[in-house]
Order: sequence, then structure tokens, then C-alpha cells
Amino acid sequence: MVVPTDELDACPFCRLDPQAPLVYEDELAIAMVPPDPINKYQVLVIPRRHYVDFVDIPDDLASHLFLLTKRLSQAVRDACHPDGMTHISDDDITRCGLNMLSHYKIHIIPRFRDEHITIDWAREGSPGQIVRKQRSDEIRAAYLAIVQAGRL
Ligand SMILES: [Zn+2]
Repeated sequence: MVVPTDELDACPFCRLDPQAPLVYEDELAIAMVPPDPINKYQVLVIPRRHYVDFVDIPDDLASHLFLLTKRLSQAVRDACHPDGMTHISDDDITRCGLNMLSHYKIHIIPRFRDEHITIDWAREGSPGQIVRKQRSDEIRAAYLAIVQAGRL
């Protein structure tokens, strides 16, 4: 996907404040405590290049980002001794506002039992084995089509 120039110009991760305190940096990625963190030990793992959707990230970079997330997740564990960890990212595919900032990032969020951070997954209830199999077959067929077409 080609990102419009004005979106890149307005992107705080593409126009990174040189004074921004970083947890980590290399030629491909940075990691930072965000300016408006969910809690005081949240870390964002961010590719230096502007990607919007996870599926657009080249395999080598995606691997790098996940290994970096794994290592920094351990660092966050050691730094703040949480009760749990959440690792999450968002693709706002139709640009309907599901992602506050389009630049792809992975959130590392330590969870503490006495905090009141909620992630409302609003589950639809169990669809049952037949529907689960239908959905599995649908997704498997889509995956095989992607592989056969060499799209990923
Ligand atoms: Zn950006």
C-alpha cells in the first residue's frame, strides 16, 4: 500500500522527536514508552519505515519486530514484575477509526491485577463445532489461495 505523503508528514513515528526517550533502536526499528501510555511500563515496538497494515510488512522485518517484541517483553517483565502481559497491534483495514495512529506498531502492555485496564473482547458466544469447522475451512481455503498465488 502506498501511503500518502501528507500522512507520512503528519506521522509522529516518521517525524520522530529527536528528544524522544527510546527503550531501543536499530536500523529497522525503535521501541519507546509512548507519550500517552496505557500504564507506566507500556512499550511500543515500531518499524522505522511507515507501514499501515501487518500484512504489508516484509517477512524479514516482521520477524525482526516479533523477536524484538519477545526480548523487550522479557525486559518489561524484569523491570516491573507484572501479573500478566498483553501483546497487541491493530490494522484499520477500511480506515474507519479502529486505529488512532496508522503507523504499524506492536503494543507490549504489562498487566497488573490491581489496575483497571480492560480490553473488552465482546465475545459472540460459542458458535458450535459445525460453524467453527466452516470458518476454519473458509480461512484455510483463503490461506491456501494466498500461498498458491505467492501473495505473502
Ligand atoms: Zn509513520
